[in-house]
Amino acid sequence: MPELAELDRTMGTYRRAGPLMARGSGAWMEDESGTKYLDWISGIGANSLGHGHAGLAAALHDQALTLGHTSNLYRHGPGEELSRRLVERTGMDSVFFSNSGSEANETALKLARKLQGMRGAPERQSFVALNGGFHGRTFGSLSVTAKEAYRAPFGSMLDVTFVDPGDTAALTKALHGKPAALILEPIQGEGGLRELCAGFLRAASELCEDTGTILIHDEVQCGGGRTGTFLCASAHGVTPDVVTLAKPIGAGLPIGATLARGEAARALVPGDHGSTFGGGPFAARAALTVLDELDAGLQDHVISLGAAFESALDELVQKHDACLCRRGKGLMQGLVIPGQSAAVVDQLMDLGVLACTAAGDVVRFLPPYVLTHDDLAIGLERLDTALSSISVSAS
Ligand SMILES: *Cc1c(COP(=O)(O)O)cnc(C)c1O
Repeated sequence: MPELAELDRTMGTYRRAGPLMARGSGAWMEDESGTKYLDWISGIGANSLGHGHAGLAAALHDQALTLGHTSNLYRHGPGEELSRRLVERTGMDSVFFSNSGSEANETALKLARKLQGMRGAPERQSFVALNGGFHGRTFGSLSVTAKEAYRAPFGSMLDVTFVDPGDTAALTKALHGKPAALILEPIQGEGGLRELCAGFLRAASELCEDTGTILIHDEVQCGGGRTGTFLCASAHGVTPDVVTLAKPIGAGLPIGATLARGEAARALVPGDHGSTFGGGPFAARAALTVLDELDAGLQDHVISLGAAFESALDELVQKHDACLCRRGKGLMQGLVIPGQSAAVVDQLMDLGVLACTAAGDVVRFLPPYVLTHDDLAIGLERLDTALSSISVSAS
């Protein structure tokens, strides 16, 4: 559609898919011409309540008529209520609000250096991160992101040592180099829906404790209820010093949250850090709506839908030789399809299902929490068709 491309003056950072999306309802999106797509990407995991959510619309409408943006110069009800409820839900002690996952991680990295300085170890400036990890696109969050191609065009970065997930010996060595912090995703999203082993997460936590390293869990993609618990870490009995959240907690409104406990919760003081938009009344109302919905049965729905999704994908792996295995947890799922993941994504788009790739070989699904069991069945049938056509074209 060249006429659309000519209308688009967005900087050329994205290879966008063809249709112009116009409207949506629940897990469905519709383009300008009326073609419907089952949205199994949900804005890369951000649009947790789907499209056209009445409760979200009512909350934002009410907020727009009540109080606009205040900045962080003034207190406001939605932000304070959200801070209390997030802290209570995660067992952390304080939260800093920003506008994205990158910023939430940027805050965490700054906090770690500040805290090391307060402890009398200002020389602890470096970071340790994992290969396959993705933490964002700002200089700090990009520095700890493993993929060389993302970092290469932008010159010098922070001092970061990358370790393979599961390599406890390499991690031990890196942490004895006295970094400021270790940052990791309990389930790597961009890295191909790779769930870290519980034993490795526990070892990382103990090693951080022993070496005085700040432990940061990036739960921007896997947290916020997507995998069945509000935090992934809690499923493994690990309590990090800092946890970052973003994507699903704002139901499509930009919000990032950096949660901290203990001395980390008190490290940043007035003047250290800030955000004009962070945790504003609109984003806070959206996040409060997500928490209300999770409590009103949506978290249970995610658990039951996630279990059904997992077993159905396992069956597809049995049936289609092109699929090597399933990866992920709950509503964060991937199929490993070497060499053909992009072709499957294209096939799915033609069949009216939106998915994307991760780490090259993985077809990734991040459906909205409000996906119904009926719509899950529709999507799985189309996925079965897409996988069949791939095997035919490969043989
Ligand atoms: C998407 C993502 C980020 C970056 O979030 P933005 O909102 O795009 O800045 C950071 N960490 C993880 C794990 C992510 O999936």
